Amino acid sequence: MKTKSVPFFNYSALFEMYREEYTKIFSDVCERGAFILQKDLSEFEENLAQFVGAKFAIGVADGTNAIILGLKSLGIGLGDEVILPSHTYVASAAAVHLCGATPVLADCGNDHLIEPNGLEKHLSSKTKAIMVVQLNGRTADMNPLEKFAKDHGLELVEDSAQAVGSRFKDRSAGTFGSFGTYSFYPAKVLGCFGDGGALVTNNAEIASQVMLLRDHSRDDDGKFVGWGTNCRLDNLQAAFLKFRLSRLQGEIQRRRKIAADYHSAFSSVSALSLPPPPSDDSEHFDVYQNYELEADERDELKQYLARCGVGTLIQFGGEALHQVEVLGLSANLPRTDQVYRRSLMLPLNPSVDDEQVQHVCSSVLDFYKAGT
Ligand SMILES: *Cc1c(COP(=O)(O)O)cnc(C)c1O
Repeated sequence: MKTKSVPFFNYSALFEMYREEYTKIFSDVCERGAFILQKDLSEFEENLAQFVGAKFAIGVADGTNAIILGLKSLGIGLGDEVILPSHTYVASAAAVHLCGATPVLADCGNDHLIEPNGLEKHLSSKTKAIMVVQLNGRTADMNPLEKFAKDHGLELVEDSAQAVGSRFKDRSAGTFGSFGTYSFYPAKVLGCFGDGGALVTNNAEIASQVMLLRDHSRDDDGKFVGWGTNCRLDNLQAAFLKFRLSRLQGEIQRRRKIAADYHSAFSSVSALSLPPPPSDDSEHFDVYQNYELEADERDELKQYLARCGVGTLIQFGGEALHQVEVLGLSANLPRTDQVYRRSLMLPLNPSVDDEQVQHVCSSVLDFYKAGT
């Protein structure tokens, strides 16, 4: 066995990818002393809004706070309920909880995203919103979800932390509902060198609310017009992000190429259920934040790959939100339970080169040849 190594994610490669450019940006921003709410931030916001086709983009401290400020701008709080999938990061539900509202967890479908059929059973007189989570860089089939929200008078919001640049029917993840949010955590599709996030919306009222909330509710004249907080995106991170956004389309192409390579290598292995390949249909444009497959003998496969030097991850620490006891959100969600018994993520990001892709492919194939 070759001892080639493919880490699940290579954090320092983030910097090495564009070392020279980032070094220049760092000097430039620091020499200008441009640290808080400067032009790099507003330029990044403009470019991001244009990139995803939203009227407004507002940089905030991180993806979790983006959801919190968005929910607050809609007035969601004490006594309200928000329906969201259990297969998501704790932050989606924590944002609801920290606004004073109650998360209500729903099952996922075969695409690992919220299952639109049967959502009615989660409705109550307190339901105010449905939060779609565009997980793994895939945008859900939004048609039935938009209809569900409309039929029941609910706000539709999107946690698109993992899905910058992903599209469904030529509309970007994050732009379907009242607002959408992104995370710039380093390992995300558009990662920065620390924490960062943004909210996008086509609604001017929501945009101005969030602009106020992120900066102590100070208006343009510096007057305090209500309660707010400090939830700004650092200008330095915004400057890095503005540069990386200009390269993102190429990075997404690389991600899609790796996903296509995985798909063609594994499509004949019946023990694996794969995410749809990039060529699957014209309605979905996936950015493959993650390559989350389902596998018979998942744990043995994970161990075998570790021995081959291939880093893998079970998403969210291997627990869906309804399985995390302290959250008190237990629910009967059989498909999500099954996903958490079977799912595994392979390394997929722009720093994984062709040789590493080959090593991952041959290691997985070897496991199924040798094993069963
Ligand atoms: C990363 C992530 C978040 C949180 O983003 P942070 O920037 O880390 O606060 C929220 N939801 C999902 C689905 C995520 O993957």
